[in-house]
Amino acid sequence: MKIFVVNAGSSSLKYQLIDMENEQMLCKGLCERIGVSGVITHKAADGRVYTAETLMPTHSEAFEAVVYALTESEAKVIDSFDEISAIGHRTVQGGVDFTNSCLITSEVIEKMREWSVLAPLHNPANILGIEACIKTFGKDIPQVAVFDTAFHQTMEPKAYMYALPYRYYEQYKIRKYGFHGTSHRFVGGRAQELLGKEHSKIITCHLGNGCSITAIKDGKCVDTSMGLTPLDGFMMGTRSGTLDPSAITYIAEKENLSPADVDRIVNKESGVYGISGVSNDNRDVEAAANAGNERAKLAIDMQRYQILKFIGSYIAAMNGVDAIVFTGGIGENDSKLREYVCDNLKFVGVEIDKEKNAVRGKEIKISTNNSKVSVYIIPTNEELAIARDTLEIISK
Ligand code: AMP
Repeated sequence: MKIFVVNAGSSSLKYQLIDMENEQMLCKGLCERIGVSGVITHKAADGRVYTAETLMPTHSEAFEAVVYALTESEAKVIDSFDEISAIGHRTVQGGVDFTNSCLITSEVIEKMREWSVLAPLHNPANILGIEACIKTFGKDIPQVAVFDTAFHQTMEPKAYMYALPYRYYEQYKIRKYGFHGTSHRFVGGRAQELLGKEHSKIITCHLGNGCSITAIKDGKCVDTSMGLTPLDGFMMGTRSGTLDPSAITYIAEKENLSPADVDRIVNKESGVYGISGVSNDNRDVEAAANAGNERAKLAIDMQRYQILKFIGSYIAAMNGVDAIVFTGGIGENDSKLREYVCDNLKFVGVEIDKEKNAVRGKEIKISTNNSKVSVYIIPTNEELAIARDTLEIISK
């Protein structure tokens, strides 16, 4: 059985086709510049590549280009789209209405539309992707929504409420929702399997372009670092993470900034990039730090320290920890960051094997046999998680 996984952005469309017999990816691709011009890059798992510039006024034309790539191009992987059993969509904000993945119906699309106020960039784009799929592939093929926020819906009010006047929660649903849920669930579930025990306290660190850390007790999220939006938590490539809100009002007054200006500054001009002035990519910033750039060094130091503090607070929140998981581009590759974090957690019994920690991007336990806490690198695979959910839902 083959599952088609879609991640639709406002002007882009990422996809993968996964064979669920062996959970192998058959191909992946990306349509870009939708609404402007249109270009598709399609890669089969055996290395064949197809690229084309083709007009994509809407997501529907993008899907038509994808069908051609999948079934007719020099990198084709199937003969007909009929071979595909279902479509799984990465969807972002499901609010309190979606605690699990679900079959997409018109009611689901309506609910997603309602939650768009809290995810104005993501939800409308996800809906465009779903509606274009219906238009291109018809209503008979089942489609499943896998929400980024769903896994975090098990948080208790004491974890998800902000200490603002209560009416903002009642009127505007202002609270913590958390993001990257599909990734945290995927790597957290795998860590639980590796630990081999039913009751577990796991901290998952998804460290990529966007970063978040989640505390998972007995398989359920108890707290997570991202909040109302994916800006909250600790510093990321270009996002500030948590800061004193007074800093915002002060700067806004001083420079006469609009809410949109402030939004841009904290989302696009801050974080590792804002501090270092070098790049939003940790590799460039580390290289600059090693070459003596003081601001680059400060950015790296700040990011590591903030990650450590979040992990420490989640150990306290769960009254202990059995496993810590690193994932995402930085989590899977940056051995120095892992070493810093783990060395500073010796007081709770974390001990890592420096040789194993030198491994990059593959699943491995990097803690020693004596370590009281298991530490893993577990590469995330959100597309596979979406495909698994999709299969489970259509099999019911
Ligand atoms: P992701 O969003 O998960 O694809 O992660 C992307 C980020 O991973 C990049 O911006 C880099 O900062 C980071 N990254 C990738 N490889 C390395 C590496 N070898 N060392 C440090 N950071 C890395």
